[in-house]
Amino acid sequence: MSDSKYAQQGMSFRESVEHMVDHAIEIMELDEGIGNALKVCQSVIQVSFPVEINGKAEIFTGWRATHSDHRLPSKGGIRFAPIVDQDEVEALAALMTYKCAIVDVPFGGSKGGLVIDPLQYEPHQMEAITRRFARDLINKGYLSPAQNVPAPDMGTGPREMGWMVDTYRQMFPNDINYLGALTGKPVEHGGVRGRNEATGRGVQYALRELFRHPKELERCGLSGTLEGQRIIVQGLGNVGYHAAHFLQTEDGSLITAVIERDGAVVNDQGLDVAAVREHIAETGGVKGFDGGEFVEDGMAVLERKCDILIPAALEGVITADNAERIQTKLIAEAANGPVTFLADKILQERGIEILPDAYCNAGGVVVSYFEWIRNLNHVRFGRLERRFHEARGEQIIEAIEQATGVEVPEHLSDRIGRGADEFDLVRSGLDDSMRLALQSIIRLRQENSRINDYRMAAYALAIEKVSRHYKDIGF
Ligand code: GLU
Repeated sequence: MSDSKYAQQGMSFRESVEHMVDHAIEIMELDEGIGNALKVCQSVIQVSFPVEINGKAEIFTGWRATHSDHRLPSKGGIRFAPIVDQDEVEALAALMTYKCAIVDVPFGGSKGGLVIDPLQYEPHQMEAITRRFARDLINKGYLSPAQNVPAPDMGTGPREMGWMVDTYRQMFPNDINYLGALTGKPVEHGGVRGRNEATGRGVQYALRELFRHPKELERCGLSGTLEGQRIIVQGLGNVGYHAAHFLQTEDGSLITAVIERDGAVVNDQGLDVAAVREHIAETGGVKGFDGGEFVEDGMAVLERKCDILIPAALEGVITADNAERIQTKLIAEAANGPVTFLADKILQERGIEILPDAYCNAGGVVVSYFEWIRNLNHVRFGRLERRFHEARGEQIIEAIEQATGVEVPEHLSDRIGRGADEFDLVRSGLDDSMRLALQSIIRLRQENSRINDYRMAAYALAIEKVSRHYKDIGF
């Protein structure tokens, strides 16, 4: 069992996910055989390899698990973290299966992890370690454009994806689709615009969609729009930063606290998220940030009053130990598994609603799907049609002006006369995916009296979709 917060409460992360899935299987009255097939991780590989670090061979250990390959490729990130183990990787692989199904991404679920503290190594050492890990995964059939496509996760980013895809290219120079072997690559090396911000952007779109449903808001004890909602964010990494920054600058939400490793920074009037991020980049923490009050006990800030709490860092931050004291109305799970099974029960009893990870942070894999399509198409989205749509927009403006004799105001003509570029199209596709998924989740919750929360509705939706495959096609 892993060393995480989950394990400390007597239940591993994998068991926690399994319990939730069990419940959904029971609610959906699923055939026992199919239920059992859904619960097992189909395969997992462990690799240990030496890399020469400062003249000495150091051994690194990693895993890649495929929970399901009912659709190919199987998809999911690779995390580099000091605490990662097989149990966690399997749990995260299962989450990927459900995540993909919920947002209609036609992939199976997979996940990888390497035990390493990336901060302890020089860039050239990281490159050697990453390339060696990639080589092992490729050789064992756990990395290829058709079968298993990793992406960034905790501790990895475009840089690592770039090294890995280059390793694949060197090993298979004849594979014309080599760029599709990894997603989350740098844009200059086959990545898609909008992937880096995608998970955070998806959290924003999920909340925007929830705020389009007044009845659902009522359940949460919320009302109005996102403007002025008081939000606490735990973890200002790639996901937390983008979610908080977009909510602050585009929706007018107040980010009243940011919790980081060294403590929290609090400002009831709302923090300038970009400035906090800059301060963290410069100093390594939030201490000393002059736009808010510093609180050393960051975990206590998690329990402060707010409208929306966004845990965006590690799993197992809300447990049976602190769930009673959480004072938010809604939790938007930007991280994977931030709320343990037992905490989930407590929060449910207390009427605190949760937008679950399997839906809420699925924006990353949605845009990974778009990146993979772009790589197989070998053309940037919008390249063929952008100027055509631009010309069409200008014709429409001309027609309106001729027919009415009135000049179309500039702010409208600018918008009508613009062709969509890759950024626009990726955002539009992400927005659509997040909207449709939440609408299905809400519908299921409203229609099924045995479903009392969004997590169960999301799992039920996923299980319905994946099990349909097993029913129609077989195992
Ligand atoms: N690591 C991200 C996740 O957990 C992205 C996965 C992907 O894009 O394949 O959802």
